[in-house]
Amino acid sequence: MKAIIYHEFGDIDVLRYEDVPVPEINDDEVLIRVRSVSLNHLDHLQRRVPILPGFSLPHIPGMDVAGDVERVGGRVERVHPGDRVVINPSINCQRCVRCVKGQDNYCVSLKVLGGNIDGGFAEFVKAPATHVYRLPDHLSYDVAACMPTVYVTAWHALVDRARLRVGEDVLIHAAGSGVSMAAIQIAKLCGARVIATAGTEYKVERAKQLGADVAINYTRDDFLDVVRQVTNGKGVEVVLDHVGPATWEKSVLSLAARGRLVYCGTTTGTRASIDLPQTYHWGITFIGSDGFTLAEFEDVFALFVQGKFQPVIDTILPLERAAEAQRRMAERKIFGKVILHPDGSDRPL
Ligand SMILES: [Zn+2]
Repeated sequence: MKAIIYHEFGDIDVLRYEDVPVPEINDDEVLIRVRSVSLNHLDHLQRRVPILPGFSLPHIPGMDVAGDVERVGGRVERVHPGDRVVINPSINCQRCVRCVKGQDNYCVSLKVLGGNIDGGFAEFVKAPATHVYRLPDHLSYDVAACMPTVYVTAWHALVDRARLRVGEDVLIHAAGSGVSMAAIQIAKLCGARVIATAGTEYKVERAKQLGADVAINYTRDDFLDVVRQVTNGKGVEVVLDHVGPATWEKSVLSLAARGRLVYCGTTTGTRASIDLPQTYHWGITFIGSDGFTLAEFEDVFALFVQGKFQPVIDTILPLERAAEAQRRMAERKIFGKVILHPDGSDRPL
């Protein structure tokens, strides 16, 4: 089968479009013909350096996969050949002490499809049947491939970790990113007022179309000033920050008394400082947002089935143009998700 694979770390030119063996499945696994796979930041971050524990080369990226069941193992009853499916890429064992306690995001043998095992930048991918979900007819492959990583990550941050409530104000940075695109829709579903930031007028307009009540072009306006203005000096109850040092200090200052800063990414670096009195005088809570659980994946999938979310698909390209897709994403020229099709098409599936 054809796959995008890299044998060494480096720039985009280490990506190869090569023939590799079709994965072999065991009795509990499913072989899936990939119809649509979406890109995530981890794909190109990990092309340069290993990030997830247990990562090894060569590697096929691609965490978010929708496709057709090609073959099932002898003990699999959950899905059948021909079923349209989406994969939960956070693969836990469902047996260890942490899994049994509901902390399966800390499973002792956690694997991430396309993260530290081979993923879906390929014609076929395999996954345990326990992590394969049938798609209803009305949910397209492309929409399903947008869901797993960004929507469930944003859900975990805002709903589980930050406990966002009806009527609260939430500041969401980098509206054009996949996680923020999802977060805006989730925050609206929660009944919050959304203030989003973005770096171009085009992205500001897209953020508003997506449901942001206020969208700030941070290259033109100071987002802290705007937050204070639109909240009449109160500040926001919640900030979702996956940007890091570039926004951190003003994110803290944007918070209302007893505000919560939930964070789940570091696209501008890994070190930030805080002014201790500022944070304790205002009762600020810092909330690290870890990996999502299987139950959360199922909750978000159910909302997709109900049509609650409409992901924005920026670009669809044939799989063999994965390098071009990664470049567009790295240059931040996109709003929403970038999709690859192994069948070579660039039309919605
Ligand atoms: Zn486990």
